[in-house]
Amino acid sequence: MRYIIIGGSAAGVSTIEAIRSLDRTSQIELFTDEETPLYSRVLLTYYIAGALPKEELHFRPLEFFKENGVTPHLQTRVKTVSPDSKSIQTEDGKDYTYDRLLIATGSSPKMLDIPGVDKEGVYGLRKMEHAQKILEHSEKTNTVCILGGGLIGLRDGYALAARGLKVKMIVKSNRVLSQMLDEESSAMVQERLQEHGMEIETGRDAVEILGKGTVAGVVLDNGEELGCQMVIIGKGVDPNVGLIASTRIEVKEGIVADEHMRTNVPDIYVAGDVAETYDISRDRTVINAIWPCAFEQGRIAGLNMGGQEAKYVGSFRMNSLDIYGLPVISMGVTRPDGEGFQQVERKTKSTYRKLVLRDGRIVGAIFVGQVQKAGFLSTLLRKRVNVSDYVPYLMSDRFNVADLLPLMRQNAEKFREIEYRELFASASQ
Ligand SMILES: Cc1cc2nc3c(=O)[nH]c(=O)nc-3n(C[C@H](O)[C@H](O)[C@H](O)COP(=O)(O)OP(=O)(O)OC[C@H]3O[C@@H](n4cnc5c(N)ncnc54)[C@H](O)[C@@H]3O)c2cc1C
Repeated sequence: MRYIIIGGSAAGVSTIEAIRSLDRTSQIELFTDEETPLYSRVLLTYYIAGALPKEELHFRPLEFFKENGVTPHLQTRVKTVSPDSKSIQTEDGKDYTYDRLLIATGSSPKMLDIPGVDKEGVYGLRKMEHAQKILEHSEKTNTVCILGGGLIGLRDGYALAARGLKVKMIVKSNRVLSQMLDEESSAMVQERLQEHGMEIETGRDAVEILGKGTVAGVVLDNGEELGCQMVIIGKGVDPNVGLIASTRIEVKEGIVADEHMRTNVPDIYVAGDVAETYDISRDRTVINAIWPCAFEQGRIAGLNMGGQEAKYVGSFRMNSLDIYGLPVISMGVTRPDGEGFQQVERKTKSTYRKLVLRDGRIVGAIFVGQVQKAGFLSTLLRKRVNVSDYVPYLMSDRFNVADLLPLMRQNAEKFREIEYRELFASASQ
């Protein structure tokens, strides 16, 4: 058996581990266009902030390839996949055949189509090389404009503020983190950011980036000009599907995966941010572009590629962040649109909690200020437990583990697989 893996990050590496758990001898070749292997991009903003040195970004030791009998092709971009000849073609003109192929190419930052976007000092953040450029440019920057108020933009701003830069955030929608939070929780986050000196303009977009060669400012859609020496674009990501453009592999939002992480073309599998998979909270397929999903999808893909049948049960988005000491967690559907949802909220001066339910089951939640119960609630979401009789209790500040017992008894089947110690620990916090 000859395996080819395209993409050497969360999904690619966990696929290799799963294949090797079944098959120690077959040939595995890994292709990545990056120079630095085996680092976690989740930690890139900590690196930019100066909180972590480069060598602590590795999520697997550098000996990983050798120990797992993998031939790595670093800095080698795959140009095309040819399912008919079961081969891939690299940009340096070489051809490699496979028996089973994994596409784990992740995604790339969306760039803006506005004048000046090609100036020196305009970046998106996805890779180590981007982080490196942002760090270098930050040496000659007093003020940075972040275009976009999503998770990555916000983390970029946070990291650069930690390096002493003045941060101005330009957000097209009416609030920050509009994809993961509702108005109430977003306002709490925005207030905390502003208290710490971040300037945030909502309901505005950039129409031009100024400067002779290098960034000198940004023009907004109301004509206002903001001076800055660096621009970071945090407007979301697009899945990297270019290499399969001329194939019949099915792409909707991302490459469509079945429950075995197979594409519609035999012997081609997909995992991670490029894959469209079943979402438990939404009850449909979407891209859930987070690290744990990429890892789990890779594991399932790898087991199936190695010959052991395994099913992907689905996932949901879950993001956590700490905004200057304000912990925030959101999961699943947080801004329901459509019929049949019940929303329950509870707010104090410094905390906010919201549950979104459909047919008595949790499909989403937001926690601000107090996040201890989030793990427990995510278990209830994942297991689709009917909690209709427990909502007031789940919304209360403290609850007794004993209160859980009837719920667990009623759902013994679903709770059987759960690590009880973990459950009790999260419930009693
Ligand atoms: C700054 C930042 C912060 C984040 N924070 C969080 C967080 O807090 N929590 C969380 O869960 N997730 C977070 N994420 C998202 C998380 O990093 C991704 O979900 C995860 O990396 C996806 O893994 P993947 O293996 O699918 O793809 P990727 O990590 O994107 O890796 C894909 C690899 O394939 C390579 N590649 C692409 N095309 C080709 C080609 N044609 N030929 C060869 N190689 C190719 C890419 O260069 C890349 O190395 C963050 C992401 C970023 C950028």
